[in-house]
Amino acid sequence: MAAAVIGVANGVCQSYLNHESVRETRELVAELCRHFYTQGWVSGTGGSISIKVHDDSIPKSQQLIVMSPSGVQKERMIPEDMYVLSSAGSIISAPSAKPYPHKPPKCTDCAPLFMKAFEMRNAGAVIHSHGMESCLVTMIQPFSKEFRITHMEMIKGIDGHGYYDELVVPIIENTAHEGELTESLSEAIQAYPKTTAVLVRNHGIYVWGDSWIRAKTQAECYHYLFDAAIKLYQLGLDWSTPSHGPIQRVFDGQRNINMAVNAGVQNLNNALELSCVEEDLHQGVAGAVPIPTNDAGKDEVIAYLVANVEAMIKADRKITGLKQLQGHIWRTGFQNNELKGVVFEDVPDALQKWHAMGIKVYIYSSGSREAQRLLFGNSNYGDLRKFLCGFFDTTVGNKKETQSYFEISQSLGVDEPSDILFVTDVFQEAVAAKGAGLEVIISVRPGNAPLPENHGFKTVQSFVEI
Ligand SMILES: [Zn+2]
Repeated sequence: MAAAVIGVANGVCQSYLNHESVRETRELVAELCRHFYTQGWVSGTGGSISIKVHDDSIPKSQQLIVMSPSGVQKERMIPEDMYVLSSAGSIISAPSAKPYPHKPPKCTDCAPLFMKAFEMRNAGAVIHSHGMESCLVTMIQPFSKEFRITHMEMIKGIDGHGYYDELVVPIIENTAHEGELTESLSEAIQAYPKTTAVLVRNHGIYVWGDSWIRAKTQAECYHYLFDAAIKLYQLGLDWSTPSHGPIQRVFDGQRNINMAVNAGVQNLNNALELSCVEEDLHQGVAGAVPIPTNDAGKDEVIAYLVANVEAMIKADRKITGLKQLQGHIWRTGFQNNELKGVVFEDVPDALQKWHAMGIKVYIYSSGSREAQRLLFGNSNYGDLRKFLCGFFDTTVGNKKETQSYFEISQSLGVDEPSDILFVTDVFQEAVAAKGAGLEVIISVRPGNAPLPENHGFKTVQSFVEI
């Protein structure tokens, strides 16, 4: 046998090392490592497995634990490469060192973490996976302390759960060194008495069961459910509700903010685009506040959200996420008849006239398409959408960039960009549209910024003049 025996402290345990059950468990760990490698759970030397030796001839107090070493290619391990630990976590048997370029063996960095599951949950086996789905699922909800999912058949594969149950998996924050996770892992195990797994953000997952089979099959179910959540997220569907309907991105009042916060604030991330917040902070945008730390409470996250939305509105940030948020607020307001789209009095007649002449009219606004439809659908002159052929927003590009107008002329199917007349009250937009070859008229309305001298554009005071 190639395994070197160390650690004389536990002489009794050592006498069991040659048991057939120990040999079989070593083989099992090596075999599972090869299998999990093909699953992507233990690639790049990451991840690990640990299994308690099941042997009725060994007294409970002398139980042995077989553990794969750290920093080695898991798929190439043989039974002799394993560590054997006592139930208290001391090393009973260590593998012998291999020649260069192999590194000397070390007991897995996550040994103390495995020991927590053995001690606190009387686990029979623990799997630590670096499977990508377990990593990504913590990233799509960057503020959430929990992963939640319901109404998925595979939930039944998790101990103590049925189809209708909500599966809740705690998420702990990653640290530079795996061993430093021990405390937060044990806190999570304590706080979630029902859980058989703990996610580590941007890292992976620890899963345990009372046997290696339960640990393995549950790990398979967890990875399946994480994969499902990621795919539903990509489809814009909410995995955490029974209906799996569209992800609720509405912020109409406290209820929805609460919902967003409870749902792990994935909506906040989408709506505000955290990178923009960081950019605002960097540029010193008034009122922008830093993203709260991951252990921030609900109130803190709400305060952050409100402050940054206000700062972004004040700074007139033309970001798609903010426009979506505006659309949601508007939708609620229009639905409740609290809002009306106000258009100048010459607008309805002009739209009707152009429509009658067969001229197609489109709207291009920094307000979202949804907001535009709401505004024109609920105007002070009624529903004006019947005179309109379509809506463009900043998803085609910024209104002050020429490229946006190229995009629009491509979409409209005109022969030449000059077949399009663009009417705006913003000088920079007029310049950008002209750059793309569109005909441009500047509409001069009360309260507009003064135009530069000799700007060269035709102006109108009313759409009647067009
Ligand atoms: Zn790890």
